[in-house]
Amino acid sequence: MRDPDCVFCKILDGQIPAVKVLEDDACLAFLDIAPVADGHTLLILGEHVETMDQLSPDQAAAMLRRLPELVGAVRAATGCQGVNVLQNNGRIAGQLVPHVHLHVVPRNEGDAFRYTWPAGSYPEGRAEEIARAIRQHLA
Ligand code: AMP
Ligand code: ZN
Repeated sequence: MRDPDCVFCKILDGQIPAVKVLEDDACLAFLDIAPVADGHTLLILGEHVETMDQLSPDQAAAMLRRLPELVGAVRAATGCQGVNVLQNNGRIAGQLVPHVHLHVVPRNEGDAFRYTWPAGSYPEGRAEEIARAIRQHLA
């Protein structure tokens, strides 16, 4: 399935160029056009699905199957000290391209990459309450 307005679908169909590093029946990986680090790579599903929660289990498996290998290759090629694998769902979460994808971002001591992580804590009873609600929505 394709969305004619989707930039990643256009890359899948060869309508616009990309610097590809990995391609199989189910997924494609290519360099991000606006890298936050040298070697910043995107791993996308080979069909148009907008967000992670809309993937079937088979689609998720097919997409993630190559992730360990890709992370290893990016690490080896860049010599980076660490890697962030990031995945945004929805505009509020920073998703600009509504076609499910993962960012593989090489990290090094002193690099410029930043994100805020406002760690908090649960008041009495809230952790069980929210966990129960999540469990109720699982199969
Ligand atoms: P996100 O904000 O998680 O949706 O990330 C979308 C990413 O896609 C951004 O980091 C963009 O730089 C990248 N991007 C957008 N268009 C292209 C393109 N034509 N080729 C490669 N990367 C792209
Ligand atoms: Zn698409």
